[in-house]
Amino acid sequence: TQKKKMSLTGRVILGMVLGILTGFVIRSLFAETSFVYEYVVNGLFDVGGKIFIASLKMLVVPLVFVSLVCGTSSLNDIKTLGRLGGKTLAFYLATTALAITLALTMATIFQPGTGADLTAATSFASKEAPSLGDVIIGMFPTNPISAMAQGNTLQIIVFAILFGIAISAAGKPGERISAMFTDLNEVIMKLVALLMNIAPFGVFFLMAKLFTSLGLDAIFNLFEYFLVLTATLLIHGLVTYTAMLKLFTGLSPKIFLKKMEDAIMFAFSTASSNATIPVTMETATKRLGVSNKIASFTVPLGATINMDGTAIMQGVATVFIAQAFNIDLTMSDYLAVIMTATLASIGTAGVPGVGLIMLAMVLNQVGLPIEGIALIMGVDRLLDMIRTAVNITGDSVVTCIVAKSENEMDIKRFNDPRAGEKDE
Ligand code: ASP
Repeated sequence: TQKKKMSLTGRVILGMVLGILTGFVIRSLFAETSFVYEYVVNGLFDVGGKIFIASLKMLVVPLVFVSLVCGTSSLNDIKTLGRLGGKTLAFYLATTALAITLALTMATIFQPGTGADLTAATSFASKEAPSLGDVIIGMFPTNPISAMAQGNTLQIIVFAILFGIAISAAGKPGERISAMFTDLNEVIMKLVALLMNIAPFGVFFLMAKLFTSLGLDAIFNLFEYFLVLTATLLIHGLVTYTAMLKLFTGLSPKIFLKKMEDAIMFAFSTASSNATIPVTMETATKRLGVSNKIASFTVPLGATINMDGTAIMQGVATVFIAQAFNIDLTMSDYLAVIMTATLASIGTAGVPGVGLIMLAMVLNQVGLPIEGIALIMGVDRLLDMIRTAVNITGDSVVTCIVAKSENEMDIKRFNDPRAGEKDE
């Protein structure tokens, strides 16, 4: 008999650890001008990592569109859709507000910015906050093809929902199209599964490249900020989500977290909720037992508008910057931060580093110097990875809660430790 191969999760962890070690070794043995950097780091690792990210992103638009059309065309009335949308939005907003409140509390207690030195301050361009009206108008595509070409998830979601509704209302032709989309969805999910096989290599390349250049010295200078933020992210990820899952679904948080492993690692290594959508979808449907009807709606929506980890970073960073510049925040400032960061997280795309740009909006709102961002920029990459993992875990918790409440969850599958695992 054949020896059993390592599970995909095991291989991805191995790729990650080897990548980090390789990065460190290269960094300590070779100069940045050496051929190793030229051919290996900026050659092989760079190319390999970029191909991996590209192949994930390649799946996002077709997957979101097709699975959501499938999902909505099987909802047979608009009422269900409205209820589903309302519930999902309410949970997404509530978890984000909770996250940022926790962040403000932690940062106020531990005061990471008191006595921080401000030498890093350089100029940083701020962006105007879009108005809520513009955000809503922006959700409606004038041209669905261009929405897809630009990967505008919210617009794709709106078009897919309308298309799905039309399918279910169109009688016989609708049934034929619907059957085709169901098949198409199967094929795309197969493609996701196939591409997951290159993940261990992709993750290795990304980590190896990143860790040859990661500014770890900066972490020492900003150690308290780093620590408070990471602790808050962990508390939110492990305590808040666990409590919510238990409270609203009665399901086991331990099984949930275990099954989230792959998605969490993808989010961590890509620092992009968006690029992780295929893996989050596959985890939600194949491993957690959520129906495609729910997951196809909640997962891409969550990756676009629900960013608890990002909101936590913005909360801690705001208080940190206020302390570092010796500016007192009033109670109404805190409320403004909660509001703006929650809204900002809706407008933040799930791609690397945008959370930091959106922070400018929050700082503006409470009159803090935008230059503060330069203070924390040096350590943001690693934190981006951690908060992205929290972001997609939040999406998945809400997905489970909504699915359970709609009776769209296969509990047997959720509880089966091997469901959806690929180790062939
Ligand atoms: N990278 C994060 C995400 O994709 C967003 C951010 O905080 O920068 O979820």
